[in-house]
Amino acid sequence: MSDWKPRTKMVHAGVKRSQWGEMAEAIHLTQGFVYESAEAAEARFIEAGRDEFIYARYGNPTVRIFEDRIAAIEGTEDAFATASGMAAVNAALTAILKAGDHVVAARALFGSCLYVLDILKRFGVAVTLVDGLDLAAWAKAITPATRAVFFESVSNPTLEVIDIAAVARLAHAAGALVIVDNVFATPVNSRAVELGADIVVYSATKHIDGGGRCLGGVVCGSRDYIRGPLETYLKHTGAALSPFNAWVLLSGMQTLDLRVRAQTASALALAEAVEAHPAVARTLYPGLPSHPQHALAMAQMGAGGTVVSIELKAGQKAAFAFLNALKIWLISNNLGDARSIATHPATTTHQRLPAEQKALLGITPGLVRLSLGIEDTGDLVADVLEALTVI
Ligand SMILES: *Cc1c(COP(=O)(O)O)cnc(C)c1O
Repeated sequence: MSDWKPRTKMVHAGVKRSQWGEMAEAIHLTQGFVYESAEAAEARFIEAGRDEFIYARYGNPTVRIFEDRIAAIEGTEDAFATASGMAAVNAALTAILKAGDHVVAARALFGSCLYVLDILKRFGVAVTLVDGLDLAAWAKAITPATRAVFFESVSNPTLEVIDIAAVARLAHAAGALVIVDNVFATPVNSRAVELGADIVVYSATKHIDGGGRCLGGVVCGSRDYIRGPLETYLKHTGAALSPFNAWVLLSGMQTLDLRVRAQTASALALAEAVEAHPAVARTLYPGLPSHPQHALAMAQMGAGGTVVSIELKAGQKAAFAFLNALKIWLISNNLGDARSIATHPATTTHQRLPAEQKALLGITPGLVRLSLGIEDTGDLVADVLEALTVI
């Protein structure tokens, strides 16, 4: 199995069939497990084998298939699934940090990730935020007290690409762990582990489900980390993934590669179609040669990803008129869905950021984030071009 291509692993990896030999993964919608004898129960509580379960907060057979499949794709020894992407981010950090530790993070983070860092500060963890693109700033911020570095490999919504290998070299030289939130790269375009990430986190709510049906998250890493501090933290604090949601995510994963490739091809076509449009001030897409980290994006992901952000010259009024004129694209705040989704970050996902921080991160009133779905490329591009005529 280890030499199968990711696309094959996405369909088959980790599967475990019951005595019935069911084709589709079974949903083990059970909280607990029964033992053949008191001695068997005692033995399992002393040390449970890899496919022996005690309680669904600790692990569940359907959830385990999901964990084994994503670990096989990501190239890590193990993975632990969580109730949401934020539960995964929180656990990945909190499981290994204590008062007096230091974390260096990129400043262009999802709002909830910034909130998790604020919680850590309340408990005595020092946090330094840096411009993720500035390697000198990382080098200056990382010290021997640094326990972990944390960043989104591609930032939301301005799609800056952080150099995983370069940051990992600096972190490892100081003995720090590298934790990467890899949502925008997707498991299809991820080389994070090969480039030096120790721990890779996904919100499975995005591309892995791909249907906007459920929340989920996962932390991928070494067996020592996953079955050591991470499992201990999660099994006692309770952010377990529901077996039903694991099953939804498993079915999503079977088409992940096909969807992401189609979405990526459409994203490039859209970016090329709008780049020179007179109403568009900037087109942000790592797959375009004009993107400041284009070469890095190609080396690191082999593709530009499934999201394109555009900045409209005429500001928020134009952005709203554009969103309201779209016919296929839905106005929402998810991404990675099979349906194309348009978002106005400044008034929704990033509304609560102070104005100076929005300005610093390039989240301007005219910025629109476009998450490509799997609809026909020509239809999606035509819808955007037509909506641009109303502003
Ligand atoms: C959505 C998202 C999260 C949070 O995931 P949830 O499943 O919504 O909890 C974290 N990081 C990034 C980059 C995301 O896009």
